[in-house]
Amino acid sequence: MSPDAQGPPTTDTLVSVRGAHVRFGAGRGAGTGAVRAVDGVDLEVARGEVLALVGESGCGKTTLIRSMIGLEPLAEGSIAVDGLEVTRNARELRALRRRAQMIFQDPTGALNPRHTIFEAVAEGLRIHRVDGDETELVTAALASAGLRPPERYLRRFPHELSGGQRQRVLIAAAMALDPVVLLADEPVASLDASIRGEILALMRSYVDTHGVSIIAVTHDLGLAWNIADRVAVMYLGRIVELGPTEEVLADPQHPYTRALLSVVPETRGLEQQILQGETPDPSRMPAGCRFHPRCPVVASGEAARLGIEARCRGEDPVLTQRSAGHTAACHL
Ligand code: SF4
Repeated sequence: MSPDAQGPPTTDTLVSVRGAHVRFGAGRGAGTGAVRAVDGVDLEVARGEVLALVGESGCGKTTLIRSMIGLEPLAEGSIAVDGLEVTRNARELRALRRRAQMIFQDPTGALNPRHTIFEAVAEGLRIHRVDGDETELVTAALASAGLRPPERYLRRFPHELSGGQRQRVLIAAAMALDPVVLLADEPVASLDASIRGEILALMRSYVDTHGVSIIAVTHDLGLAWNIADRVAVMYLGRIVELGPTEEVLADPQHPYTRALLSVVPETRGLEQQILQGETPDPSRMPAGCRFHPRCPVVASGEAARLGIEARCRGEDPVLTQRSAGHTAACHL
């Protein structure tokens, strides 16, 4: 992909992903039968930007954000966060992990049931040897995450809190370290619908007040509508569409994005497209466009009528510009 095809942001880039590949099993080399979980991703995220990374489960989106803090080693390519390269050096990784905080999907599993809320938030401060009064830092973090008065929560245990409150504790623990980016893996998927909006509003408020960036992995396009500035759609380890949220959701350029959107209740007007078949095995990537075995444009005969079917089956499309900052990888 050409640098132009990534679109904005070009100024004040915070997270820079270049030619990233993550492989699992079977030698981890290209063409060795390894699972190609992330298969050539280029991406830039600006300071203060919210990016939603969307796609079906197994498309590589969680692996991609885990690779941003070195939890999944890169087989090829490079990633930098706030100028720090993701490396295998433990000391450098620790510095990077203070700046890039991960928020997990399941707050119950992420919190130690034997630790008080105070300990849950203080743990990161100790690991990263943050200066200052621990109690003051913890109470300030809980208060800014909406757990007020914070003193009421300090001695409580996770099981005494609701799911939404537990997620607020995790966000407080992350924000106590003053990160530059939150890597959020399905941050509201395990919460009741009534609580989701509150947690998304809390996350968005950190963007507005602290200038933090968020990369939020989700299969829920509703989350993208609510808080994201841009959307990146992933399919089988690649970004297949990237652009401003309103444009991607109102005028999707890739048939996969259209299919994902067509089953969202709020998107009236799009003909519903149920994708045929399972996501292909990422250790045996289809030739040509990796989406072609499931693409409605090919299945309906439209690709043949338009004279692009041979390219769909034989030529891997790259991201090309559709409008300012909006790119898609499709021969259509
Ligand atoms: Fe479908 Fe062809 Fe576009 Fe791939 S390149 S998404 S197969 S139309």
